[in-house]
Amino acid sequence: MVDVLVVGGGNAALCAALVAREAGASVILLEAAPKEWRGGNSVHTRNIRSMHDEPQDVLLDAYPEEEYWQDMLKVTGGLTDEKLARLVIRSTSNCRGWMQKHGVRFQPSLSGTLNLSRTNAFFMGGGKALVNAYFRSAEKLGIAIRYNSAVDSLDIQNGEFKAAYVGGERIEAKTCVLAAGGFESNRDWLDEAWGVNEYGEHPAKNFLIRGTRYNNGVLLKQLLSMGADSVSDATQAHMVAVDARAPLYDGGICTRVDCVSFGIVVNKDAQRFSDEGEDFWPKRYAFWGRLVAHQPTQIGYCIIDSKVLGRFMPPVFPGEKADTLEELAKKLGLNPDALLETVAKYNAACKVGTFDHTVLDDCHTEGIEPAKTHWALPIDTGPFFGYTLKPGITFTYLGLKTDETAAVRFNGQPSKNLFVAGEMMAGNVLGKGYAAGVGMAIGTVFGRLAGASAAQVVMSKKEETYAAA
Ligand SMILES: Cc1cc2nc3c(=O)[nH]c(=O)nc-3n(C[C@H](O)[C@H](O)[C@H](O)COP(=O)(O)OP(=O)(O)OC[C@H]3O[C@@H](n4cnc5c(N)ncnc54)[C@H](O)[C@@H]3O)c2cc1C
Repeated sequence: MVDVLVVGGGNAALCAALVAREAGASVILLEAAPKEWRGGNSVHTRNIRSMHDEPQDVLLDAYPEEEYWQDMLKVTGGLTDEKLARLVIRSTSNCRGWMQKHGVRFQPSLSGTLNLSRTNAFFMGGGKALVNAYFRSAEKLGIAIRYNSAVDSLDIQNGEFKAAYVGGERIEAKTCVLAAGGFESNRDWLDEAWGVNEYGEHPAKNFLIRGTRYNNGVLLKQLLSMGADSVSDATQAHMVAVDARAPLYDGGICTRVDCVSFGIVVNKDAQRFSDEGEDFWPKRYAFWGRLVAHQPTQIGYCIIDSKVLGRFMPPVFPGEKADTLEELAKKLGLNPDALLETVAKYNAACKVGTFDHTVLDDCHTEGIEPAKTHWALPIDTGPFFGYTLKPGITFTYLGLKTDETAAVRFNGQPSKNLFVAGEMMAGNVLGKGYAAGVGMAIGTVFGRLAGASAAQVVMSKKEETYAAA
């Protein structure tokens, strides 16, 4: 019987499989996707948020534990387990050497992206190259990899893992690491969670899925129904406002629209609904998907003028362009009078100081609701541009409760041989909100922890057997 069975083929699963194998355990990895679609959401990533006390290879200055923790506290509004969050934060300071050993290469951030050169280490070639490097390393180390192998149920008795089922096949193992992502690709479950809104609509039906179609949450659902302890709730998720023309699955990062903090965002009635300049875009971009999701028909329109061009990464698909706001409104399908009135009110409220998009500057509005608290410049210089936005779901936070050993817990008791990593437990650290690069931080740290814990169970059993023989 194999020592460690890993379910999933993304970053968390691969980290778990590699660490368990390095510790001497035999490992089988089951990936639901075919080989050409392997790697889950991890293939879409670009960086990992990393603590450091002084400049390091690709990271500038310092990003100490306390600042990282304060960032987590702020974005989650306190919905985080401090012990586990600090464990993740500290471990990000020393995981890059291990990642490099398995073929991951880093590069400094590109200027003008999300201004993350101090806090985030970027993967050369992105997450796709990272996943490919890990799969290569896994093959070299003798990890058995099976594609097209969606696990549809688990045999768990009294909190102890016995076997996984792929179709009718029963695969037994001494331990198991679950790293099968969230349930973001399960549109029925999303619909069930979001229900019907105040306008009589099913908001989740209008969500786009930014990543893989394979994270259906089948095992998460089974474990929750068996009474595994859970964290967060089914409506919490990382959600980004994406270009409304993006595909239903796997649009990835190129569908993101990064100019929100440089302009205004209105709903289908041409009304603003949130502070576009509340904080730096890396800390706010993951809120905008949710904000748009709460608007009627789950649609938003980002409006900018020519003054801000060149200050943000331009979206891949060109937006609507017009010489006048009236013409732009028509192209976007908005009521021109309503948009003109909203922009006029906003422009009149702008108190322009010294515009600087690299700091929380003093350009703000006064006397309108919602306020725009930074980077508020009047929208007055044509041509004008508009981007239609939809909620793009990245990953869900409802997950399995865990501890410093990455064990799945039943009635507060840790399982002896069932562990969890990545999106399936990210809600322990991220009850809500997000800061760029935290997903890969959680997956890498808990993937390695889960792999180490699983290997420890089997290796200590082996030692006991040798000692008794
Ligand atoms: C567009 C995009 C950009 C992102 N950018 C970043 C970034 O730059 N930095 C960052 O930190 N985070 C980023 N994230 C978030 C990040 O992708 C996730 O937090 C992270 O990849 C989660 O890793 P994981 O291994 O838990 O899940 P995944 O990488 O999604 O892997 C889950 C795996 O499980 C498999 N699977 C699912 N169900 C089953 C089953 N029943 N049986 C077998 N296998 C199954 C899937 O096929 C997949 O291989 C981004 C996400 C997206 C979508």
